[in-house]
Amino acid sequence: MDAPNADQFLIDQVRDGDQNAWRQLIDRYEGRLVAFARTRARGLADAEDLVQETFVGLLQSLSRFDNRRSLETYLFTILRYKIVDQLRARKMTTVHAPEESADWWDHVMPLDSETPSDILADRETRDDFENRLAELLRRLIHDLRDREAFDDLSVIELVFFKGMRNLDVGNLFDIDQKAVAGIKFRAIQKLQKYLAESDDPEKKLTETEADVTVARVWREKRLTCLKRSTLGSHLLGVLEDPWNRYTQFHLDVVSCPMCLANLSDLEVTESEQGRQLSESIFASSIGFLSRASNPGS
Ligand SMILES: [Zn+2]
Repeated sequence: MDAPNADQFLIDQVRDGDQNAWRQLIDRYEGRLVAFARTRARGLADAEDLVQETFVGLLQSLSRFDNRRSLETYLFTILRYKIVDQLRARKMTTVHAPEESADWWDHVMPLDSETPSDILADRETRDDFENRLAELLRRLIHDLRDREAFDDLSVIELVFFKGMRNLDVGNLFDIDQKAVAGIKFRAIQKLQKYLAESDDPEKKLTETEADVTVARVWREKRLTCLKRSTLGSHLLGVLEDPWNRYTQFHLDVVSCPMCLANLSDLEVTESEQGRQLSESIFASSIGFLSRASNPGS
């Protein structure tokens, strides 16, 4: 079973109040969430508390969770809210204070400041057009990978996913910023072409909205994020180039916080500490499970 299907299966069981499924879900995600929290929260105890609250947050919003979404991304988003809340509670005026090691992801994916829980559930379920655009973007990305056009892919990933300026991307690859603009332009053109071929040719990506919309969809769907299995192969040193180089690029140059959290989680072998944490998360959240599950099922 691949990850999204396994998640869907677990979520359905959790909705029915299945304690084993809940335990499995905690085991599956706790490590990467702690790794993520540790880079942002002070001290390990804080990180573990935040992850504990994140799982409770999932149960509390379970009725509004859309199964088509990525559970992992959803959990990372809840966790980010918890981190922001905690920093606010400590009367920090900004989450971007350098000592908190907030990174570029917090700038490109700002969290709505007022009411986290309601916005969360709808965040990725925008209109059909964006879902269709995501499919077309996936096609574009696959096409670039198939042709091993990793340079072009890396350029547009930095522009759209990371939100870097053409000039900075150009400097990084030692090319003119006009060349960067050209690569980006060709990608948008290709998307326009795909859109024109699809069932609803009326809907176009206008010049002005293209950049913003493509960037948003790329980030929300994390279109170039790495599979756990890919990260695992990378760690074992059995991933071959150009895939390995590209993986290294996503980790080092893009420095994707979610994939880095997955990587550090994979690096830590099953420790006693990890098992204890799972237990304590389970114990602290189990009361919410019965409240979250479907009545009468
Ligand atoms: Zn990633």
